Amino acid sequence: MSKFVLKRAANGVWFGLFTHLAHQGLKHGVSTRLGGLSVAPYATLNLGLKSGDDPHTVRLNRDLFCQAVGVDYARAATCQQVHGDHIHLVMADDAGRGARSHAAAVPASDALITAERGLPLILFYADCVPVLIYDPVRKAVGLSHAGWKGTVAKIGAKTVLAMGEHFGTQPADCLVGIGPSIGPCCYEVDAPVVDTLKASFCDTWQHLVVPRGDKWLLDLWHANRDQLEEIGVPRANIDISGVCTAENTALFYSHRAEHGTTGRHGAIICL
Ligand SMILES: [Zn+2]
Repeated sequence: MSKFVLKRAANGVWFGLFTHLAHQGLKHGVSTRLGGLSVAPYATLNLGLKSGDDPHTVRLNRDLFCQAVGVDYARAATCQQVHGDHIHLVMADDAGRGARSHAAAVPASDALITAERGLPLILFYADCVPVLIYDPVRKAVGLSHAGWKGTVAKIGAKTVLAMGEHFGTQPADCLVGIGPSIGPCCYEVDAPVVDTLKASFCDTWQHLVVPRGDKWLLDLWHANRDQLEEIGVPRANIDISGVCTAENTALFYSHRAEHGTTGRHGAIICL
C-alpha cells in the first residue's frame, strides 16, 4: 500500500513524497513551509512569485526545494496558472521556462506533461489539488493544478489523456499521487459550484458533497480520483495524501484558512 510521507532533505527542506512513485525511482515531491528563507506571512519556503513576497527570496526557496528533490532548478518549467483546463506539452526548449520569472512562464495553462528526461515540471498551490502522474511504461510524466474549477473540468483525467495522445500512455499503466489540498472537512462551497459538479459528475456527484446549512462541503480528493478511475486508471494506482492544507497551516499554505495572504507550496515531478 502506498503512502504520502514527509522527509527532511540534507539542506533542511521538508517535503512530502508518494512511496509508490519513490519505489519507481521517480524524482518528485510536494514542498512544505519548512526549510525556506521567507518571513511571515510567507514563512518560510514560499515558492509563489505572485504572492507578494520578495521575488529574490522566492527564487532562493525554489532552488532549495529543487535541491531537496534532486532536480536542476535552472531547467524547471512552469506555467501561469489560471484555473483553466489547458495542458501544455513541455519540450526540450521549455527547460527553465518560468523558473525565475512569472512573465516567462508558459501562458494560461494548468497542467504540464513531458517525456523529456531531467526536465522538472513544477506548479504552485495553496489549497488546490496537486495531481502527479507517472507512466513507467512510456516514461512520461504529468502534473496538474486542480482547484474546484479544474477538478470539475476534469483536468487530471485530461492530463492522462493528453499523455496518451502525445506519448502513447495507457491510463491502466499510470501511477498517480493526489497531494495535500483543502480537504472535505473544510472546503465549503456554494450551490453554483455544486451545480457545475452535478453537470460534470452526473452519476457520482452525491458522493462528493455533504450539505452543511445552505452550503456544501466538497471532496476534491475523491472527485479527482473518480475522474481518473473513469478513464481507466486503477484505483490501486492512485494514492490520496489525505492531508488538509486548511487544517495544517504550520506545514502548508492555505488560501482559505489564511484569508488570501499567504505563500505557495509546490509540486515537482521529473523523469
Ligand atoms: Zn480540513
